[in-house]
Amino acid sequence: MAATVGERDIIGEATIGELEAALRGQLVRPTDPGYDQARAVWNAAHDRHPALIIRCAGTADVVRAVEFARSEGLTVAVRGGAHSIAGFSTCDGGVVIDLSPMQGIRVDPAGRRAVAQPGLTWSAFDHETQAFGLAVTGGLVSSTGIAGLTLGGGIGWLLRKCGLTCDNLLSADVVTADGQLVTASEDEHPELFWALRGGGGNFGVVTSLEYRLHPVGPLVFAGPVFYAAADAAQVLRGWRDLTATMPDELTTLANILVAPPVPFLPEAVHGQMVVGIIGVYAGPVEDGTRAAQPLRTLAEPVADLMGPMPYAAMQSLLDPLWTAGAQNYFTGTMLSGLPDEAIETLLAQHAAGQAPVHELHLHHGGGAMANAPAGGTAFAHRDAAYILNILARSPDHEGFDEHAGWARGTHQAMDPWSTGGYVNFTSEPGQDTVRASYPPGTHARLVAAKDQYDPTNLFQLNQNIRPSGRR
Ligand SMILES: Cc1cc2nc3c(=O)[nH]c(=O)nc-3n(C[C@H](O)[C@H](O)[C@H](O)COP(=O)(O)OP(=O)(O)OC[C@H]3O[C@@H](n4cnc5c(N)ncnc54)[C@H](O)[C@@H]3O)c2cc1C
Repeated sequence: MAATVGERDIIGEATIGELEAALRGQLVRPTDPGYDQARAVWNAAHDRHPALIIRCAGTADVVRAVEFARSEGLTVAVRGGAHSIAGFSTCDGGVVIDLSPMQGIRVDPAGRRAVAQPGLTWSAFDHETQAFGLAVTGGLVSSTGIAGLTLGGGIGWLLRKCGLTCDNLLSADVVTADGQLVTASEDEHPELFWALRGGGGNFGVVTSLEYRLHPVGPLVFAGPVFYAAADAAQVLRGWRDLTATMPDELTTLANILVAPPVPFLPEAVHGQMVVGIIGVYAGPVEDGTRAAQPLRTLAEPVADLMGPMPYAAMQSLLDPLWTAGAQNYFTGTMLSGLPDEAIETLLAQHAAGQAPVHELHLHHGGGAMANAPAGGTAFAHRDAAYILNILARSPDHEGFDEHAGWARGTHQAMDPWSTGGYVNFTSEPGQDTVRASYPPGTHARLVAAKDQYDPTNLFQLNQNIRPSGRR
């Protein structure tokens, strides 16, 4: 049987058979029993039906998959951890290049380096590096893939001490649109290396990532402290004031949320708005205890769960709240600051939200993210004081469009303080996001890299940098 899109046969059986014979990994077709499981992505808002899913066992399969998609003129979706909010890692009728079977990692404890394959999640990555007390900035939810997060930038608990994840990328192996394997680093293909660090999946399929690691943990001072709605404005203002003098070791996030019915929060606040201040101190536990103390006395906490804990435990603390299979809409923006009026706007917007889960995450920027040279990577907005992520989530599609509308409305309400976008924190694909994320000079340089490495725009399921011939 041929692969079909709707009623249309798009690829003959003989061609598919040739592809299958050339792979070490597995080819999954719509008629296969595992198809529905293989096509599922984290965000159930994207329920798509690819013609073929190529589960790559290694780089040779990736080369074959890229050549196949190009020669058959098929849409290409690249998947690692399948966490794309915008649904980039699946498609209707095209090919999914699924890298999730590629989970190798080699840690060099003495050299503080790791070479990792793109199918790894942060959970597996941290497991391997924490065995040696090492880490690099990873995502806040440990089921997120390392590659997608790194290529977009990478915001996490080590941001202020160690920089963005992409700041710690030392080299990457990339299969480009012409099926060639190149290594990108400061010395080889430097423009590609520059573009990979913030430019997303525009330039090819990354088959290996080399990271610089930092001594972190295994025990760190970390965790959340929660405050009641009545104290929300005071807590947010107090947190904002503290961020002005926070040491770079301390990376924090303020979260405006509806308290979930979890045992570590008093029943009285379940279903009520609360503010969580969450942080990690990347240094000695005693220093962290001291540095985080002011965060714990911003008002009378309803629950204070800060304390010494394994870094790996902190990395998976939020996992149960962000499982796969729900409908999610995220939109984010960089903020120049957080004056009282912005805090009031956020609190009013949160109160107006109706989604079963709706949260406003304020990541504190600065530190190593800001200290890296401007223009040194394609990730552009290093001067953001805060990074706002607006999240709406519901178990099914009922009311989802309204919830997404609330998220967009909140983004708009924050326009006076917005300075730019972040490609990893948005459900909205398209040129508005691209323009917001990359200032004109950065964008022009990305277009030049796209022209060189993907002139026909084979890789367009991403926040797309259009090659200059394809405007
Ligand atoms: C629950 C959750 C928590 C998150 N937390 C954070 C966070 O703390 N910090 C943060 O910065 N971001 C965070 N994100 C956003 C996340 O970084 C992006 O969604 C990222 O794209 C996910 O990577 P992935 O490999 O899991 O996704 P996938 O869906 O597999 O990939 C997304 C896209 O990235 C590109 N890509 C992925 N792998 C490759 C590759 N090997 N080669 C080329 N292109 C590739 C492709 O365009 C692909 O379609 C979070 C997302 C979710 C859903």
